[in-house]
Order: sequence, then structure tokens, then C-alpha cells
Amino acid sequence: MNIIFLGPPGAGKGTQAQKICDALNIPQISTGDILRRAMKEGTETGKKAKSFIDAGQLVPDEVIIDIVKERLAMDDCKQGYILDGFPRTVPQAEALDTFATIDSVIELDVKDEELVNRLSGRRVCVKCGATYHISMLNGKITCDKCGEELIQRNDDKAETVLNRLKVYHDQTAPLIGYYEGKGLLKKIDGAQGMDNTTRAILDALGAKA
Ligand code: ADP
Ligand code: ADP
Ligand code: ZN
Repeated sequence: MNIIFLGPPGAGKGTQAQKICDALNIPQISTGDILRRAMKEGTETGKKAKSFIDAGQLVPDEVIIDIVKERLAMDDCKQGYILDGFPRTVPQAEALDTFATIDSVIELDVKDEELVNRLSGRRVCVKCGATYHISMLNGKITCDKCGEELIQRNDDKAETVLNRLKVYHDQTAPLIGYYEGKGLLKKIDGAQGMDNTTRAILDALGAKA
């Protein structure tokens, strides 16, 4: 199954993609993770992306489209995948249609006030990318999965968060109509607890786990 997770920053795309990918045994393709790795490694792509990401803007379509096209051509994507964070603009969605067939689009719906709270409390593992929220860490500063240090992403600082929400509403939200028109959209209430959200997504996909 080829699946897209759509939703604003902080909606729970990464958290849920990880769980659903484990359940369905398919890879999670997170463009944010790919770009952050490129920045850490100092590659050409990483250098190009950095100023956009730090400002809460989207990186240019042509940069990200090539990355995704290459990634989806790899062997582990043959049985399906979850795209987490792509497409984010209508031109990206149109490009995707030329090299992939999408079966389902899961839209995670969460109100802006809750998103600000989630993003400002988000902590991520520098090594494995696992995501936490300060409300569940009880002061712990290391990753449960690999023991590495947890950090706050630069673009989760208050001044950038509001900009990212605006970018979402302006540039990414039009994709809801795009996929509704194709009959692929499944809207999920992302404000429920994590486990209930996971169940709702699996139900919507007609999958059992
Ligand atoms: P979040 O999980 O908070 O929605 P991501 O980790 O998906 O954020 O993305 C972080 C940043 O990486 C974005 O703000 C944007 O600058 C860049 N980015 C990720 N995916 C894309 C994309 N498909 N198109 C353009 N920029 C992207
Ligand atoms: P996205 O990938 O859409 O930007 P994340 O999965 O990184 O979102 O989640 C953003 C923050 O919200 C993280 O701190 C995460 O722990 C928290 N979070 C995710 N899902 C829920 C939920 N259902 N209820 C409360 N907090 C959540
Ligand atoms: Zn870790």
C-alpha cells in the first residue's frame, strides 16, 4: 500500500507513521528526516536546504522532488511505503503522480492552538529521530530507543512555529482538496490519544494489526 500522511506540523505524522509502518512492515519516508540528515552530513542538498528550514519555509520543489523520486525507486519501497511530509505543495503532488500510484491519503486534523503546544514541547533524538513530548519525559533527556541525547529542533522554537503553520495553511492545505477530488482522502481526528489515532488510521486503511 502506498500511503501519504498529510497534516500540519505537529499533527503527529511522524509519530503515527512510525507505528503504522511497523504494523504494516513498510518503510517510512520522512522528507524532514532526510533533509535533517543531509544538513548534519553537510551535503550539497543539506547546504541548500538549511536556510529554508531554519526560516520555517519550504525547500524548493525541484530539490525535494528529485530526492523522493530516487528514494521511491529503491527496493524496499516495492511492497509499499508511507510518505511523511511529502507532498507539501500542489506541484509536488503533480510530480508525484508521474512516478507513483497512491492508494490512500491520511489527513491528520488538529487545531492550531494544540499544534503550538505540541511543537514547542517536542524533543527528538539526534541519532535515531524518535520523537517525544516534554509532558511524557519526566525530565529525562535521553532516547528510550537508543540512549542518545534528546534535543529541541531549531525550527520548533516559538518564532518559527507560527511561520510554519502559516506556510502549511497557504501552501500545503490545498492538497486536501486535491486528494479529495481523487477520492483518496481519509480524514482522521489527530487530537485523540496516540493509540486511538493509530487504531483510527488502521481502520481507515482497512488494515489490521
Ligand atoms: P514537521 O514534522 O514538523 O511537519 P518536517 O520534519 O516534515 O516537519 O519538515 C521540516 C522542514 O523540512 C519543513 O519545515 C521544510 O522546511 C522542510 N521540508 C520537509 N519536507 C518538505 C517538502 N516535501 N517540501 C519542502 N520542504 C520540506
Ligand atoms: P509531525 O510529524 O506531524 O510534525 P510529530 O509526530 O513529530 O508531528 O508530533 C509532534 C509532537 O506532538 C511530538 O512532541 C509528539 O510526541 C506529540 N504528539 C504526537 N501525537 C500526539 C497525540 N495524539 N497527542 C498528544 N501529543 C502528540
Ligand atoms: Zn534514539
